[in-house]
Amino acid sequence: MWEEFSRVMGVREGAGGDSADFTVTELNNVDSNKVYLGELSARALNKTKGIHDTKNPFPAPIQTARELFTDLHDRNCVHVEFNVEGSGLTYQHGDHVGIWPSNPDIEVARLLCALGLYDKRDTVIGIESLDPALAKVPFPVPTTYATVLRHYIDISTVAGRQILNILARFSPNPVAASELSKIGSDKEYYSLVVGKPCLKLGEVLQLVTGDDISGVPSTSTVTPWNIPFDVIVSAVPRLQARYYSISSSPKIHPQSIHVTCVVLKYQSESSPKTNAKWVFGVGSNYLLDLRMATHGEKAPPMVANGDAKPASVSNPTYAIAGPRNAYAVDSIYKAPIHVRRSTFRLPTNPKIPILMVGPGTGVAPFRGFVQERVALARKALEKNGPDALETWGQFLLYYGCRAENEDFLYKRTQGQIRLTHCVFSIWPRKPDGSKIYVQDLMWEDRENIAKIVGEQKEV
Ligand SMILES: Cc1cc2nc3c(=O)[nH]c(=O)nc-3n(C[C@H](O)[C@H](O)[C@H](O)COP(=O)(O)OP(=O)(O)OC[C@H]3O[C@@H](n4cnc5c(N)ncnc54)[C@H](O)[C@@H]3O)c2cc1C
Repeated sequence: MWEEFSRVMGVREGAGGDSADFTVTELNNVDSNKVYLGELSARALNKTKGIHDTKNPFPAPIQTARELFTDLHDRNCVHVEFNVEGSGLTYQHGDHVGIWPSNPDIEVARLLCALGLYDKRDTVIGIESLDPALAKVPFPVPTTYATVLRHYIDISTVAGRQILNILARFSPNPVAASELSKIGSDKEYYSLVVGKPCLKLGEVLQLVTGDDISGVPSTSTVTPWNIPFDVIVSAVPRLQARYYSISSSPKIHPQSIHVTCVVLKYQSESSPKTNAKWVFGVGSNYLLDLRMATHGEKAPPMVANGDAKPASVSNPTYAIAGPRNAYAVDSIYKAPIHVRRSTFRLPTNPKIPILMVGPGTGVAPFRGFVQERVALARKALEKNGPDALETWGQFLLYYGCRAENEDFLYKRTQGQIRLTHCVFSIWPRKPDGSKIYVQDLMWEDRENIAKIVGEQKEV
């Protein structure tokens, strides 16, 4: 449709980038205390008290951060406990916590170099909206170039076709311009050289100028472009919080919020222009970096097929000490969080049977549900004696993972509370050698499940 639309209307795809939404000004003589270096709100900058929400996340001290998987070289799953004492943050089982990550060091350096801003990274800038009715400055200012790229905009996602189209006109040479225009205008070509290899904005800028994207980015290895910063601010979306199901109950942990996060890491596809490489999720690897720092560990480098260079194969590192080192106090790290209410709750009537299916990290909210139920059961027993739970409905959790000794989350808890419906997909296997999944367990248990869903649903 768009091709025809452009022809009939006489417009060009991507031309929206022709008119700037913002003006960016380099500022001198700004009081350094008033410059945002990654603080997410005015209250955080001025250290004033106030409600903690999505606009003013709470820098929560990490009281525990541990690994749940035992096959460490392959995959990670991080259990983190945030201390929310004195923050005013409250939660219910089933709520979500939003964690505000920053971008990894390597991508910040890459884009600073590609934008020719590396030497000016700490220059203070002001940004104003040319028409506040149409576009608000999406993050707090005054700030610095490096801060914007590290804390405020999402430079780590796969670069979109539209922004590449906009940036083609700022190419440092005609070859780069023609390659970027082709990527921006030809969907299939975009998918082949950017989408499937999962290239980020900085990597695409490097690729089309012929730089080697697998090395450590520096001013000597990255070709600088002359892209006005207002174009970047207009075209790259704000870095968003990552949401996690809270895996604790406030009845047992009123002062802490637990998260069970599987760390996202996958191999991209190769393309005619790039080798396959590891891609790391921003928020989950931020938590992994925090877990390692909490234990004084360094990330083990990973080698893909033995041929990749170190910069592209080691776990990303982050500026976890935060703005003005506010997130690293007395060797305890903090991360900015807020709580988002959810309607995912246990019914208040304990007679209603509960059927929970949560393989892998899908078990996270149900860990909170189990804690909630245990707390309620203890209270009922205290109040009404040993028969108090007799009329309570069944409380079933179907859980699955690859193998008991690898990724069985919260195995010790399982021992304590006797969750019986658990399955391992790699081992043991069915008699015919095929894998067993959660649905196989449920099929075995179908008579009981049919009773719960059909007969006992109304108590
Ligand atoms: C309500 C809610 C609750 C959640 N609860 C939990 C929880 O309890 N535990 C948990 O671990 N996660 C949970 N998540 C997911 C979590 O929010 C993050 O999405 C996840 O941690 C990945 O974030 P990231 O920043 O590491 O990855 P990002 O940097 O955001 O990258 C994610 C993107 O990578 C791409 N991608 C992923 N895999 C591949 C692949 N193989 N090939 C190509 N592209 C790929 C996809 O486009 C995906 O959108 C929840 C999400 C929501 C919305």
